[in-house]
Amino acid sequence: MRPIFLQNARILDPSCDMDEKGHILVVDGKIAGTGGGIAAPEDAVSIDLHGLWAAPGLIDMHVHLREPGEEYKETIETGTAAAAAGGFSAVACMPNTNPVNDSSAVTRFIIERARATGSAKVYPVAAVTKGLKGEELAEFQDLMLAGAIAFSDDGNPVSDPGMMRLALQYATGFGALLISHAEERGLSRGRFLNEGRVSTMLGLSGIPSAAEDIAVFRDVRLAEFVGARLHVAHVSTKGTVDIIREAKAKGVKVTAETAPHYFSLTEDAVIGYNTNAKMNPPLRREEDRLAIIEGLMDCTIDAIATDHAPHSRLEKEIEFELAANGIIGLETAVPLALELFRQSFLSPLDVIRCLSSNPAGILRVKGGSLKAGGDADICVIDPEAEFSVTRENLRSRSCNTPFLGKVLKGRAVLTLLDGLPVHNLLGVVF
Ligand SMILES: [Zn+2]
Repeated sequence: MRPIFLQNARILDPSCDMDEKGHILVVDGKIAGTGGGIAAPEDAVSIDLHGLWAAPGLIDMHVHLREPGEEYKETIETGTAAAAAGGFSAVACMPNTNPVNDSSAVTRFIIERARATGSAKVYPVAAVTKGLKGEELAEFQDLMLAGAIAFSDDGNPVSDPGMMRLALQYATGFGALLISHAEERGLSRGRFLNEGRVSTMLGLSGIPSAAEDIAVFRDVRLAEFVGARLHVAHVSTKGTVDIIREAKAKGVKVTAETAPHYFSLTEDAVIGYNTNAKMNPPLRREEDRLAIIEGLMDCTIDAIATDHAPHSRLEKEIEFELAANGIIGLETAVPLALELFRQSFLSPLDVIRCLSSNPAGILRVKGGSLKAGGDADICVIDPEAEFSVTRENLRSRSCNTPFLGKVLKGRAVLTLLDGLPVHNLLGVVF
C-alpha cells in the first residue's frame, strides 16, 4: 500500500478545532501527519485538492441496513456503499431487522457481514427489548460482548415507563448508551403525517407534535432520575428541542440527533400524497424546522444522522396510508447539511462536527478526528460540486427520497476507509 498525500486541503478537524490549509499524510492505513509543514514521501500517491475540504470520515449514528431479512431493500454491502458515496466511513445500524438484532448471534452476523462485504465500519445497535416488543429486556451484556455499541428499540418506542426505567438502569450498569425512539403511540397510532394544515388539507389523520414531546420528556426525566445517559433519536419538533435544551442546562446526560430532512423540509413536502416524504416522526411545520436549526446552532442537538430507511417500490408506490415510513439519506446528507453553512447557520467546522466527532463521542467509537496515529478514515468534500439525485446515481438499493430528481450542491468526492479508497470521484489511480 503506497502512502497517500492529500495536498492543499482545507483541513476541518473538529476534534481539535482545526480549520486551516494544509496536507494530510496517510501511511499504512493510518494518519501519519496533518498540517502545513509535512512533506510527501517519494513513493506517495499525491493528490492536489486545491482547497477542497478534508474532514474525518463521517459517522452516521442512525441507519437501517435491512440485512438480515429485507435484502431486497438494502444489504450491508449496498448500504455501506451508499455510506461511502456519501462521505461516511462508519454507520451505526438499528436492530429492526428480521430477525431482530436482540441476540449475540445476529450482532455477530452483522459484524461478520460488514467485515466481508462492507465499505464502511458498521456498529450494530441492539434491541432494548426482545423482538422490540417492549416486554422483556434483551441480554445487554451478551450483546455488548458480541459488539453492540448501543441499545434502541428504534421503529418502536419502549412504551412502558417501568421497562424504560429498568433499561436505563441496566444500561448505566454496563456503561451502555440507550437511544430513544420517542413516540407516544396513544397519540400517533393509525396516523400518517404531521397533524396540522396539511393533514387537514389532505383529509388524513395527523400525528400531533405532542406525541414526540411527551415521550422525550418522559425519557429525559427518567434518565435524570436514574442518572443514566440517554440519546434522543431523530428530533423533529420545537418542543423536543426546548426539553433537551432545558435538560442539558440542568446537567442531565442527554444528547440528541436530528436528520437532514427535518431541517430541510416541512410537512408541505407531503402535499400531493407524496409517499417519498412519509416518515416517522413526520415532517413538521416551518417553526419546528427553524427550532431544529437553532438547536443545532446552540449545540442542543449534537449530531446529524440520516435515519437512512430504504424501502422498495412495493412499500412506497401505494396509497399514502399504507405506505411505509422512511427515506434514504446517506447520499444526500452532505449537500443538505452544507445548506446550513451556505445559509450562515453553521460554520463548515460545525457541520463536520455534527457529522463526525460528536457522533463518535456519543457512541464512544473511534474516528471523528484527523489526529496522527488514528485510522485513515477521511472524507474529501467538494462544497461546490453539483449532482443529480437519480436512481442511477444512487448506490443504495432503494431510491425512496423526496430529493429524487433534484440537483443538490456539495458532495463527498473521496472517501478513505483505513487508507483505502472506497469512493473516488477524483479520477486518481491509487
Ligand atoms: Zn426511530
